[in-house]
Amino acid sequence: MVNYLARFSPRLSKVNAPLRQLLKQDSEFAWDANHDRAFQQMKDLITQHPGPVLAYFDPQKKLRLQVDASKNGLGAVMLQVWRAQVHTVLSSVPVSDKRLTEIQEATTQDPQLAALRKATLAGWPDAKKRFPPSIQEYWNHRDELSEIDGILFKGDKIIVPRKLRENMLERIHAGHMGVEKSKNRARDLLFWPGMGKRVEAAVEACSICQERRSTKPKEPMLSHAIPERPRQVIGTDLFTWNSQDYLVIVDYYSRFVELERLYSCTSSAVTTKLKAAPAMAQHGIAESVISENGACYSLGEFRHFTETWGFTHTTTSPHYPQSNGLAEKTVQTAKRILYKAKAENKDPYLSLLEYRNTPVDNLKSQAQLLMSWRLRLILPATAKQLQPQVTCQQTVHKRREVCQHRQQAYYNRSARPLPHLPVGVPMDPGNP
Ligand SMILES: [Zn+2]
Repeated sequence: MVNYLARFSPRLSKVNAPLRQLLKQDSEFAWDANHDRAFQQMKDLITQHPGPVLAYFDPQKKLRLQVDASKNGLGAVMLQVWRAQVHTVLSSVPVSDKRLTEIQEATTQDPQLAALRKATLAGWPDAKKRFPPSIQEYWNHRDELSEIDGILFKGDKIIVPRKLRENMLERIHAGHMGVEKSKNRARDLLFWPGMGKRVEAAVEACSICQERRSTKPKEPMLSHAIPERPRQVIGTDLFTWNSQDYLVIVDYYSRFVELERLYSCTSSAVTTKLKAAPAMAQHGIAESVISENGACYSLGEFRHFTETWGFTHTTTSPHYPQSNGLAEKTVQTAKRILYKAKAENKDPYLSLLEYRNTPVDNLKSQAQLLMSWRLRLILPATAKQLQPQVTCQQTVHKRREVCQHRQQAYYNRSARPLPHLPVGVPMDPGNP
């Protein structure tokens, strides 16, 4: 029923997204407060002001009878105040990004999208063969299509006109992320039939990615406890790349990555970066910091920092890096980002921004998990897509558990089992 009504209220397909998520093939059916809220919002959208889809008949208002017939039956719907209703939808999902202007223009010039727009506004026939042949590839999505300010949407995703698809592929892969991440990145905001396959082909054909793939090191195992909220635990690590020193900081809950260039590796320099740029001063003081047992973390200044700012500091042994596996994995990611940006002579911080905005592991992006909003980037986004939206912590926790178990099973198949080593246990370096 909701699928049917979605054609009268495009917001419905956005609101029921958490419920549709439950029906996906590999997702666990776990009903939580988010789903309760989505269910209630759906009922409100259909029945309450503004813009109710269903309402009692009002003899004072104008009527329109919309009818439809086939050889098997006859359908009819009585509409009232349809103009007012369409106006409400337009004003509730404003399109504000300048980049959307070029999509508006290209949509107008695209013959296929012009036909699709016509069908979307006029209502769809009930048989695929009665759908114009040029737009039959949209048949399975017909209940989710809508048009706002000259742009076509599938749910709340922008349908990209043919002319701009190559350009969007370039933007999607600007950060040189792998196939799955690039596809997630695209699917978060955009849609066109066969988009996933095109993204796949673009990544496969990318010479910079191919070059890097052959030298990709084995992923480290992540065996840490899963935090319940952002900034409960952060991991940090130093690395040298291309004769330059860097500091990475990663939040264990959201996986939000910070990458800072270091001009000195002293305790004072590292302390300042952790305080100011942007780690703690911007995202709040972490409850716990995990790092290697390096000199910069053990000297007076860093100790004073932990005491005055009030957080615990845990060190790990370099012989068992998997106990800080997430920071180690983040170093690999940061090196990949730096390498690919250099190979193309592009800005690594733009790639980092893309990476932070990419949904991973069937969860929202790092930025959404940490700050509850999508970051504005080089891909077009509607004002609605940029609205803050909080993710249920239980969902994050469960999903992380599933991924960790899966990764552990994969790791165990290809690695010699090691004794379980909890974070913080003192090690004898001579006898690891
Ligand atoms: Zn690439």
